Amino acid sequence: MTPLTHNLTGFALGLGVAAALPHTMAGIFVVGCVLGARAPDWLEIARFNKWSRQRESLIPHRTLTHWLWPWLALLILSVISIRQGGQNLSTSIGMAGFASSGLLHVATDSMTSMGCPLGVNPFGKRTSLRWLRTGSSREILVILAAFVLAGAGWSFR
Ligand SMILES: [Zn+2]
Repeated sequence: MTPLTHNLTGFALGLGVAAALPHTMAGIFVVGCVLGARAPDWLEIARFNKWSRQRESLIPHRTLTHWLWPWLALLILSVISIRQGGQNLSTSIGMAGFASSGLLHVATDSMTSMGCPLGVNPFGKRTSLRWLRTGSSREILVILAAFVLAGAGWSFR
């Protein structure tokens, strides 16, 4: 997926879930979603090598940072922390937004032909739905679906 698609779908996720949250927490959740939307990519610590004209990263692309399980674990821990309440409630809600948006990033990248590691080995076989190519017009459908779901969240409010 392109960075724009990740940003828009992460923002849509934040808007949709924000409908179910108190106003003071909704903004924090949306900010978490925006920060997490591209986190699996920027956590790779990548740069563009102008000499080789290729992307290089400290963590190989679509391995550890695109692995399903750490994002799922972070989301579960955030939800447990939210349920416990306390002084860290805002941080927990922001972290839940960050984790759920990171999870959405992995899910949408899994639609592409390159796929993501969804099994037990983050450096092993990648799973791909082979539904689209990065940058293809089908990404518009993914963005539209995200905003339709976000709108559905507000209609049930
Ligand atoms: Zn990615």
